[in-house]
Amino acid sequence: MRTNLLDFTLPALTEWFASLGEKPFRARQVFRWVHQRGVADFDAMTDLAKSLREKLKEIAEIRPPEILSEHRSADGTVKWLFDVGIGNGIESVFIPEDDRGTLCVSSQVGCALDCGFCSTGRQGFNRDLSVSEIVGQLWVANRRLEEMAREGMPYRLEASSEGATPKPVTNVVMMGMGEPLNNFDNVVAAMSVMLDDNAYGLSRRRVTLSTSGVVHKLRRLKETLPVALAVSLHAPDDELRSRIMPINRSYPIAELLEACKDYLEAAPRDFITFEYVLLDGVNDTPAHARALAKLLRDVPCKLNLIPFNPFPESGFARSKPEAVARFRDILVEAGYVATIRRTRGDDIDAACGQLAGQVVNRMKKRTVRIHKAHREAA
Ligand code: SAH
Ligand code: SF4
Repeated sequence: MRTNLLDFTLPALTEWFASLGEKPFRARQVFRWVHQRGVADFDAMTDLAKSLREKLKEIAEIRPPEILSEHRSADGTVKWLFDVGIGNGIESVFIPEDDRGTLCVSSQVGCALDCGFCSTGRQGFNRDLSVSEIVGQLWVANRRLEEMAREGMPYRLEASSEGATPKPVTNVVMMGMGEPLNNFDNVVAAMSVMLDDNAYGLSRRRVTLSTSGVVHKLRRLKETLPVALAVSLHAPDDELRSRIMPINRSYPIAELLEACKDYLEAAPRDFITFEYVLLDGVNDTPAHARALAKLLRDVPCKLNLIPFNPFPESGFARSKPEAVARFRDILVEAGYVATIRRTRGDDIDAACGQLAGQVVNRMKKRTVRIHKAHREAA
């Protein structure tokens, strides 16, 4: 089998080139061709010696996950379903805004953490994504969006930081399918490629990792690669949080908030973003909002209130708009920055938390295709 160069960070690629007897600057040249220029064909890497190109053609390849389907929303949002092996699919979503282009990236096939309101969690867990499957989502998205921009779609190419190559994707959020901290090594390697100036050159502020609160791995992330952090809170007390997020039984709220404060010492931003999915009648009353305001008193943070995306048999419903507005107002009056996430790509089911893909649950040995069921129900 050929070695997939999308699996390498630059230091790892340099080592691999050394094993071939090649100098470090050769690795850097190839890394730039692959990530900055989106080139997959060794013959196009014109500044490499022909003999090296021939050798690479024999033993290496640039193989991102294959696109199974692509949907464009009327508002410019694009969603891809990628093939990640026998019956499994993962999704990525590109969300264009005036001043940025954000790609929502998946980290696992399914998720083992089983949050009640999450369609990914409901499908169970199959496996971790490899580095090439994670970086590959960004690689493919940039290439496809560049093609669409050439065809006249209104996607702008922008440099994410000074000196970086202009690309459609300027920001990445690890908020797709899976719990990124539970695939720690591959996610960190993939994010370090995203940050590398010889690749995408995204700053740590422009890469956000969202976690349900795997506390001991959050400590490791602080030491390894402290990118911007979003934490899925969803409840102001342990009793309720444990009910909707089983992980809270292992890492209760007090421990999680301590870890968040600690993380801020190394974080690229001076606040944590807390995500709070509003579930009708479950966690969206004024009493919950007041409890939340009290709970977060001494954590520098912003709050992102997310309207629940319903899916069949979830057992939850989206909060009423009045409840959402009241919830936000209580937080704002208490001095917080609290915003309601605009739903994007509704016409193509592309909102966060709606990224179902299709997962063959290896743990439970059954196949669930919620996404398909959802389409059929619609
Ligand atoms: N596992 C990580 C990242 C992926 S989930 C995490 O939990 O943070 C990304 C975000 O989508 C999380 O905040 C999650 O709580 C939210 N989410 C999950 N299901 C949702 C749904 N049905 N509607 C709205 N948001 C949802
Ligand atoms: Fe996993 Fe996040 Fe979904 Fe919970 S919300 S099941 S942690 S993907």
